[in-house]
Amino acid sequence: MSFSQQPIKTGTDFDCLVIGAGFSGMYMLHLLREAGFSTRVIEKGDGVGGAWYWSRYPGARCDSESVYYNYTFSEELYNEWTWSSRFPEQPEILRYLNFAADRLDLRRDIQFNTEVRAAHFDEDENIWRLHLSDGTSVTATYFISGVGCLSINATNIPNFKGLEQFEGDWYHTGAWPHHKVNFRGKRVGVIGTGSSGVQTIPVIAQEAEHLTVFQRTPQYSVPANNHPLEEEFIQYVKNHLPEIRGKMRESLGGLPFAPFERSALDDTPEERRKVYEEAWEKGGSALFFTYPDLLTNEESNTTASEFIRSKIKEIVKDPETAEKLMPTYYYGTKRAIMDTNYFETYNRDNVSLVDVKKAPIAEITAKGVRTEDREYELDVLVFATGYDGMTGPLLKMDIRGRDGETLKQKWENGAHVRTYLGLTTAGFPNMFMITGPESPSVLGNVPVAIEQHVEWTADCLKHMRETGMDTIEATQEAEEEWSRKCREMAEATLYTKTESWYTGANIEGKPRGFLMYLGGYGPYRELCDEIAEKGYEGFALASGSNTVV
Ligand code: NAP
Repeated sequence: MSFSQQPIKTGTDFDCLVIGAGFSGMYMLHLLREAGFSTRVIEKGDGVGGAWYWSRYPGARCDSESVYYNYTFSEELYNEWTWSSRFPEQPEILRYLNFAADRLDLRRDIQFNTEVRAAHFDEDENIWRLHLSDGTSVTATYFISGVGCLSINATNIPNFKGLEQFEGDWYHTGAWPHHKVNFRGKRVGVIGTGSSGVQTIPVIAQEAEHLTVFQRTPQYSVPANNHPLEEEFIQYVKNHLPEIRGKMRESLGGLPFAPFERSALDDTPEERRKVYEEAWEKGGSALFFTYPDLLTNEESNTTASEFIRSKIKEIVKDPETAEKLMPTYYYGTKRAIMDTNYFETYNRDNVSLVDVKKAPIAEITAKGVRTEDREYELDVLVFATGYDGMTGPLLKMDIRGRDGETLKQKWENGAHVRTYLGLTTAGFPNMFMITGPESPSVLGNVPVAIEQHVEWTADCLKHMRETGMDTIEATQEAEEEWSRKCREMAEATLYTKTESWYTGANIEGKPRGFLMYLGGYGPYRELCDEIAEKGYEGFALASGSNTVV
């Protein structure tokens, strides 16, 4: 192996600059170095891990099964790590990513404690110049974003009046402090009941004197049914990794299971109940992956929605609270959530639920939260209010392509985000977005999507080097066609009927549009490979003044 090579192009500091040292940036660095590209990763934190470095809130854990939620590109690496449980907690996942960074010797090419403020494409030189928070700038031929779909620079703290006057401590789940936050004897408020809220509420409730949950939209959630992993199962997966990896890569959602081939409506109500009961017992994503038409057929969806509502009614003892917790949107059209004792937590005497759809939060006061009908006094306030997802992490940086056009101008002035394959965008040559908007990204077991994007990008750069090309850029036509396809796919589902961060609806003023590709991981992979095999169809490749489309 040769590391820390010289850049190929004279006048640049590196061949490749990568932002972020999470799952994406780490693997990107590894592959690029292996391929002989000089590469530097710029990372805001003082350690690797990305979202798993920042999201240290109590109860944070993965909701993909651990044995599938890791790098699978190397059997050697895979076999050296053993997970403790089905859905491990954040500290274990962070330890895993640190293990991978050590094992692949990544740290020496990562610049920690540094933020990328701006990335500008210099058209005369065909290079990217990144302006960093330490006042320096660096240049490279290729600029690769590994900032992910939900990143620290895009946490969403709603614009509540008066937050600055709050006398207690407040935190955002996605930017949690490194020290333990003490809730003992405290009156705590949690705003938000998405994946983060649902995970943290039961844990905080065990310690706080009183917990008040401010809920705007009630959620469907199913039990995670977390448990320690049996040695025999771990060994089985290790011994069969190539086969299991193959299934994960071909699947729609990055997991080695296939959904049923029948509609929910093909089963009788009794058969369906049995299917849902078994999935509920199994826990995790089992229910979400039962009938394939849950997200396309309203009637099918209603069967699953009603089943979960019936479970909430069974679990929550106080009928008034149970009623407040009843979700009404189409199940699965907001991120499907799994929990450990979420609904049970509302049976505790020290937990109360406030419906802020009925009486919205009017302001944060010195003493707590005031809704339109009363004030709740709090010592600690937790924002589990999510992120400006998909586009936010990119748009928080000043990214400029050809003619000085900013990515913000391009995406906000258009009626919607436009990308080609969710990997590139016209007018921004030699820029790649790992799990970018309009890629399948978060709609599944993300490390599988990450590995595919990273491998495709590394192969593309090797092709550029081998063919002596200087720039690669999506064509306007290919991008329009891709974005149209993404929109059409989304319109054919129930996803667009729900307000969620998937559609940008959670951020005031954000242009609406479904932000992912819904064709599934496996078909998407095939498509990307075909495009590469056809000489990067839909891209313009140029060398000097020669352009090949
Ligand atoms: P989220 O799903 O966007 O949930 C945010 C919550 O805050 C929602 O309940 C939302 O209500 C509420 N909210 C936002 N603004 C509000 C306001 N002004 N007033 C009152 N309530 C407000 O965010 P998240 O829970 O952090 O999850 C984001 C994504 O991160 C997940 O979908 C998932 O992809 C990922 N994640 C994964 C895991 C895991 O793997 N286990 C864990 C955590 C997060 P509305 O629904 O009404 O908008």
